[in-house]
Amino acid sequence: MQKFKDYKYERPDVELLKTRLDEIIEGFAKAETLSEQEGFIKEFNKEKAHMESMYTLAHIRHDINSNDEFYDKENDFWNEFMPVFSGYSARYATALLDSKFRSELEEKFGKHLFDMYELEKKVFDEAIAEDMVTENKLMSEYGKLVANGKVMFRGKEITLNDITPFRQDKDREIRKEANEAYTSYFADNMEEFDRIYDGLVKVRTKMAKKLGYENFVQMAYDRMTRTDYNAADVKGYRKQIEEVVVPMASKLRAKQKARIGLDTMYFYDDTLKFLSGNPTPKGEPEWIMANGDKMYSELGGELKTFFEFMREKDLFDVLSREGKRAGGYCTFMEDFDSPFIFANFNGTSHDVDVLTHEAGHAFQVYSASKEQTIPEYLWPTMEAAEIHSMSMEFITWPWMKLFFEEDEAKYKYAHLSGAVEFLPYGATVDEFQHIVYENPDMTPEERRKAFRDAEKKYLPHINYGDNDFLESGGFFFRQGHIFSSPFYYIDYTLAQVCALQFWNKTRVDRENTMKVYNRLCKAGGSRGFLGLLEVGELKNPFVDGTIVETMKPVQEYLDSVDDSKL
Ligand code: ZN
Repeated sequence: MQKFKDYKYERPDVELLKTRLDEIIEGFAKAETLSEQEGFIKEFNKEKAHMESMYTLAHIRHDINSNDEFYDKENDFWNEFMPVFSGYSARYATALLDSKFRSELEEKFGKHLFDMYELEKKVFDEAIAEDMVTENKLMSEYGKLVANGKVMFRGKEITLNDITPFRQDKDREIRKEANEAYTSYFADNMEEFDRIYDGLVKVRTKMAKKLGYENFVQMAYDRMTRTDYNAADVKGYRKQIEEVVVPMASKLRAKQKARIGLDTMYFYDDTLKFLSGNPTPKGEPEWIMANGDKMYSELGGELKTFFEFMREKDLFDVLSREGKRAGGYCTFMEDFDSPFIFANFNGTSHDVDVLTHEAGHAFQVYSASKEQTIPEYLWPTMEAAEIHSMSMEFITWPWMKLFFEEDEAKYKYAHLSGAVEFLPYGATVDEFQHIVYENPDMTPEERRKAFRDAEKKYLPHINYGDNDFLESGGFFFRQGHIFSSPFYYIDYTLAQVCALQFWNKTRVDRENTMKVYNRLCKAGGSRGFLGLLEVGELKNPFVDGTIVETMKPVQEYLDSVDDSKL
């Protein structure tokens, strides 16, 4: 059997490929019959699948060993070629939209494909090309400012990343100092963060106006191809979070305070969930992976087949090594019908997430690739994409004892309460961005105040003590999505609400729930968010009452746990 290491890479012949793509796109436009057009669609998708598979393969191999000179050069090649290919993609999309057989094609491939391309077309115009360059430049300035961040901690210079463990230290003095040192980086660079964010708000507003939008809000929704809900729906959803989830989160905080034995909890105490430490997997990476084999084999059915496929073909790279890129992701190579999971195990519960969350993404794209006929439907939009992964974290609950042993109950409590506490934070980030882009002329001070006000509404328990910077609303500087993926954050909360529904369903009727989950994975991105909710038999989070109903069993479970014993 061909394994990942045997997957053959070759750089495409650019001139040949360009000629071929021209032929296909022009041929499609000139075609006289529907079946001729369908033929060109097939050919375009075949070229695209091959090209993207080569791109992804080069990318993975480079991430695995950034010192590999061959793939280093290939990476440079792709960085230059991908924008060229985007031009062809845009032309292909326009040709589809203008097809004289459009209604027949919609019938065959589904209207959703055309809805997506309409939106993509709507949010781009030559007139904003230069503004997009400015936007990208500011986003990378933000990325650099955070990535290069260093602070003094206990007499030593330390990176923002390396200070993380100290911010969760059991010793309160260390924890406090580490959190204050971490925060000081953002406070000391306030002017720079303000300048970058102000620039981003201004340039995004300018682009929106050029494209005929009232402000950037709807343009952002369109950029994320949110085809079936709008800002008013999201506002109602946040209201439900405020009414239902905020009190639940406050109650969890009160329990946490008692559990860790504090009279007053300050912001630097938030990360200390248990005096006995966080739940961790009880073995080495090989042991974790072997437990993964056991878990998926017992899950059975399509999940078993999928996991065996991943393991037999070596489609995981999870060990941290010299020269390997940080972080983790799941991707897919169409030519090889292969998902790929890239991760860096670090001994925390994150390692198990790789086998649940990332494997959920992989299972989704693996299933969709067997079902869908066009590449546009392999992955759903972002709020839907996280449903499969976050739900897999809950579907696999009965096997968590394998990994966490005596920490099982602690892991489950931390997982479920973490999901509850996350929702109000997500609403804070989202509400803040609506305010900012609806009022693009706010000053940086006014923006910070708006963030602090949103915190007070959704996270009333936060206590910044005498930290003036955080008290003035500076926390949002550290939330990269606010700078680099505007309005993408509520997506995680929407998916989380759906995953919590799956959590409860598996407890009530596992067999049927697994059937529905498989069906949802196969549907891939063939519909918009609300359409996929129907396939997944999930209650729509935008409908009043959904949150209350979803959270009821969650509250019951949390109430049933004696957390003082954890
Ligand atoms: Zn994910």
